[in-house]
Amino acid sequence: TGSRTPSLRTRGLGVRFGAFAAVTDVDLTLEPGARQALIGPNGAGKTTLINLLTGVLRPTSGSIHLGDRDITPLSCDRRARIGLARTFQINTLFPSLTPLSSIVLAICERDGLASTWWCPLRRMTPVYDEAHALLGRLKLDALADTPVSALAYGKQRLLEIALAMAAKPRILLLDEPAAGVPEDESGELFEVISELPQDISILFIEHDMNLVFRFSRRISVLVSGSVLTEGTPRDIAANPRVREVYLGT
Ligand code: ADP
Repeated sequence: TGSRTPSLRTRGLGVRFGAFAAVTDVDLTLEPGARQALIGPNGAGKTTLINLLTGVLRPTSGSIHLGDRDITPLSCDRRARIGLARTFQINTLFPSLTPLSSIVLAICERDGLASTWWCPLRRMTPVYDEAHALLGRLKLDALADTPVSALAYGKQRLLEIALAMAAKPRILLLDEPAAGVPEDESGELFEVISELPQDISILFIEHDMNLVFRFSRRISVLVSGSVLTEGTPRDIAANPRVREVYLGT
């Protein structure tokens, strides 16, 4: 319907593991069309926060809203169906499938066309068209028929994003999309991410500050489970408290 992606907001969001508060009182806003980085030292709670946003973890306090809707009680599946997609740090692809068949399966799953082998051709043609378009968007078209196991790691990571995109998300949560990718390929990977449609809001965890400053328009800094500060790359680079955290002084 072309409706604008609503903003994703957390208020007072927190989770405890026993006595340990991994995430505390987080107010985070992802505006429509965001290209927002979530940074912070190891153990700061970044992955835990993404797990709270996707519903993998239940918060022990606070709320999550998508636009006007309180999505805190919704399961992962329900959240995925209303437009929240994520990729994982760990490679979750089927090594023997090709990128094309992986995406065709993902689209079939989304549209409830479970058994591709008996699906009538007229129903499969648009699925293949969409899969090819998605592969093109992720710069994987030349590798459509190469088994996943033969793809360079950076291409596998792009395919994971393509699979997340197959769900037609409004919000994309990327947990270290360039993890394990050689340094000379990570810029290219982020280039592709930054060219995804502008109506998709993207929040990504990234450690490489060069990539963070190159590809984010806003940065949230998480330290010990709490948001230390949030702002434009320029604000964050000039913030003495952020420097303290990163330089350990
Ligand atoms: P980051 O992604 O910023 O490196 P994490 O979100 O992975 O940090 O972890 C934040 C803290 O919460 C860490 O101290 C981690 O050990 C702890 N933690 C994460 N998940 C669990 C869990 N399921 N049970 C107990 N502690 C956890």
